[in-house]
Amino acid sequence: MEILLDGKLLAEKMDAEFALRVEKIRKNGLPVKLTAILVGNDPASETYVRMKGKRCNKLGMGSETINLPEGTTQQQLLELIDKLNKDKETTGILTQLPLPKHINEQVVLEAIDPSKDVDCFHPYNVGRLSIGSPVFLPATPAGIIALLERYGATLSGKRAVVIGRSNIVGKPVSMLLLSKNCTVTVCHSKTADLPSVVREGDIVVAAVGKAEMVRGDWIKPGAWVVDVGTNKLEDGRQVGDVAFDEAKEVAYAISPVPKGVGPMTITMLMENTIRSAELRANF
Ligand code: NDP
Repeated sequence: MEILLDGKLLAEKMDAEFALRVEKIRKNGLPVKLTAILVGNDPASETYVRMKGKRCNKLGMGSETINLPEGTTQQQLLELIDKLNKDKETTGILTQLPLPKHINEQVVLEAIDPSKDVDCFHPYNVGRLSIGSPVFLPATPAGIIALLERYGATLSGKRAVVIGRSNIVGKPVSMLLLSKNCTVTVCHSKTADLPSVVREGDIVVAAVGKAEMVRGDWIKPGAWVVDVGTNKLEDGRQVGDVAFDEAKEVAYAISPVPKGVGPMTITMLMENTIRSAELRANF
C-alpha cells in the first residue's frame, strides 16, 4: 500500500473549506440548519444523530434533533415533516433510519421537500442522479468518490467493481463512478465467482456488511480499494468488508475501517446542507 485513504484527515480538511461557506451564508444573514428526526431509542441511531449535530456545530451551522417516541404514528411524523418543509430556518431535513416497523420508510422519505432532502433519498433526487443532473449527491457514495479523487485517483477509463447493490450505497456509487467515466460492474449476493470479478477492478468499492469477506488475493495488484462495511466482531472490534491486512499488501490505496468512509459520509451530509442553503440564497 502506498496510500491510506484516511477519511478522518480528509474530512477535517474539507470541514475547513465548508466553514468558510457557512460563514458567507451567515454574513448574509441567511439560515443554514440541519434538522434531524429521530424516532425511538436505537442506540446506534442516537450515536449517528449526535455525531451529525456535533459536526454542524463545529462548522457554525444550526442543528436540531427532534426526538420522537417509538410509538409515534406515521401521520404524526408526516405532519412534523410538513412543518419542517415550510420552516424557513431549516435548510436540511433528515429522518434517521431505520424507522420503527409500523412506519413506512418510503412514504416518509418521499414526504421530505426534495430541496431539503440532504440525504438524497427522495425519488426526485435519485432520479436526478440517474440522469446525470443531480442537485445533491448521496452522502456515502459522494464520500467514496471524494476519498478517491482527493487522494489522486484517476477514474476515467478505469474498471470499477462495486460489491453491493443497495439503494443507499451500491447503486448510487455505481452511478457516480459511471458519471466519472469508469466502466462499472455491480456485484451482489448472486454474482458468480465473485473473487475473479473483483480481481478485474482497478477500483473496488466493498459495501456488503460481511466482516473481512474480500480477501487479499481478490485484489488486483495496484488497485484502489474503498471499504464501506462497518461490522462489529464479537470481541468489540470494528472491521470492514475487506481483510485490511491482506489487501494492503496488494492494493495501491486502501481505506481503513474505522476512519475511512464513515467520517466522509457526515462530511458530505454537511456539504448538502450548505448547498441547500446556498441554492436558497442564489449563491
Ligand atoms: P445492504 O444490506 O442494504 O446491502 C448489502 C449488499 O451486499 C446487497 O446488495 C447484497 O446483495 C450484497 N451481498 C450480501 N452478501 C453478499 C455476498 N456474499 N457476496 C456479494 N454480495 C453480497 O447494506 P448497505 O449497502 O446498507 O451497507 C453495506 C455496508 O456498508 C454495511 O456494513 C453498512 O453498515 C455499511 N455502511 C457504512 C456507511 C458509512 O458511512 N461508513 C453508510 C452506509 C452503510 P443482494 O442485493 O443480492 O442481497
